[in-house]
Amino acid sequence: MPESQVPHFNLWTDPWITLERLDGGAERLGLAETLRRAHEFATLYDPSPLVVAGIHRLLTAIAQAICNPQRVSNLEALWRVGQFPADQIAAFGAQYADRFDLFSETVPFFQSSDLPLHPTKADKVKSVSVLTAETSRITALQHYRHGRIMDEQFCPECAAKGLLTISPFISIGGSGFRPSINGIPPLYVFPGGPTFFHSLTASLLLPRFQPAARSKEDVPWWIHNPVVRTGEVETVGYLHSLTFPARRVRLHPQLLDGACTRCDAPLTWGIRTIIFEMGESRRKDAPMWIDPFVAYRVGKERPVAVRLQPDKALWREFAALFLMPLPESKAPMLRPQVLEQIAAMNLADDLHIYPVRCIGARTDQAKVLEWVDIGFDIPPSVLREADIAYHISQALKFSEDCEYEIGRVFQKYFRGKSTKSERHKRLKMQMRESYWSALAEPFRLYVLALGAIEIPAARAPETGRWADTVVATALQAFQQAADSVGDDAASLRQRVQGEDRCRFVLNVKRKKFQIGSNSGKE
Ligand SMILES: [Zn+2]
Repeated sequence: MPESQVPHFNLWTDPWITLERLDGGAERLGLAETLRRAHEFATLYDPSPLVVAGIHRLLTAIAQAICNPQRVSNLEALWRVGQFPADQIAAFGAQYADRFDLFSETVPFFQSSDLPLHPTKADKVKSVSVLTAETSRITALQHYRHGRIMDEQFCPECAAKGLLTISPFISIGGSGFRPSINGIPPLYVFPGGPTFFHSLTASLLLPRFQPAARSKEDVPWWIHNPVVRTGEVETVGYLHSLTFPARRVRLHPQLLDGACTRCDAPLTWGIRTIIFEMGESRRKDAPMWIDPFVAYRVGKERPVAVRLQPDKALWREFAALFLMPLPESKAPMLRPQVLEQIAAMNLADDLHIYPVRCIGARTDQAKVLEWVDIGFDIPPSVLREADIAYHISQALKFSEDCEYEIGRVFQKYFRGKSTKSERHKRLKMQMRESYWSALAEPFRLYVLALGAIEIPAARAPETGRWADTVVATALQAFQQAADSVGDDAASLRQRVQGEDRCRFVLNVKRKKFQIGSNSGKE
């Protein structure tokens, strides 16, 4: 093959990551420049939040390898300098840049070089669209139109982005295909900051916040051997976990006409087919892997990662995701270690509000049903103070209790005859939805207000106001649902009685809900 016929795409140097400048414009850079100029940008951008999470994890792994902070003072000093050391980035590049070439014969990025760059007749090839959630979803819906799947063709950038979603998000799918290191994809929490540099720096972990199950021997992607098919690994180091090759892949570059079917970029070298097999997994009896960017509920057996739930707005997981664990809690939470570190370090002391970004996908086997990319603004005191954690936990519990109550009253008064029951079920669901969506903004304001109150005794009135809002919102949602039930005489009577009952029950709840009575009320 003449040199002009050999494809190259090196993620270290070629531009493929879209970054939002602080002034709002966008630029595309390779890995090296992204790290070197991270302080000039606000954040990462991609239409797929899963890609954003994948790129953040790769950059975190590289920055962790470069900076390797051992104690608090290392991280504080880096935060103060405000940018990554250019000479160390260059040194890393000099040593490992060849490991980031997508089409390398011998060391292709995140692929296995023992698989050939050009498929043989015996190879079981798959469409490149299995790499991305948004196109494979189309594929899944249109599986009866097989021709369509094989029409997908990706530019190198999109193929690279798809490869990066494997480690954090690949789930089960077909026999023998096990999920990646974190199991069924959890919700990932990424720290923010004034610039993308701060976001990455806050993502660097001191040894004591790294997973306890990690091994000292670490094989991050840039020193990893080709991925063995269905290879159970005995041990996993921390950087290995951030670049975990859960699939054994090889892209097949071809000279193509037309445009990338994912991003519309004109193609020269593109990818239509790939090899996509089961790659690495941890042994089934290995100790639970606690990812530092994931929150867990500590159950009776082993911790369970917080994941997206159908019909449950993410802010309702606020306690599990962000608050310090409360000792008296019956179902203890384990917030992401990356937030534990921020709370312990006072890194964010110069910020009044600490921004975090939550990215997750809800999957059914290999299919992505839904994804979210949601930002939260958290006052540092909310991360740090047990008293505030207690207030917010109780506030959330109160809103769950009130939801339960209005549901119960609705069920009692409007169950209807069996012919109506489907409609009533739907009304009840709508009631819940309108209740929770009406509380989202008040909750955000409540958290900000609570975070701004320095004297613990002054927090109870704020939580009291939240409880009043919850009661008013619950009653309103109930009334709206009751209004839709129907207006024959029987329904009207039920409505009046139901509303009376609802008001009564909520008021009893509200009276019992007296938080912080020992820390001084108004
Ligand atoms: Zn593309």
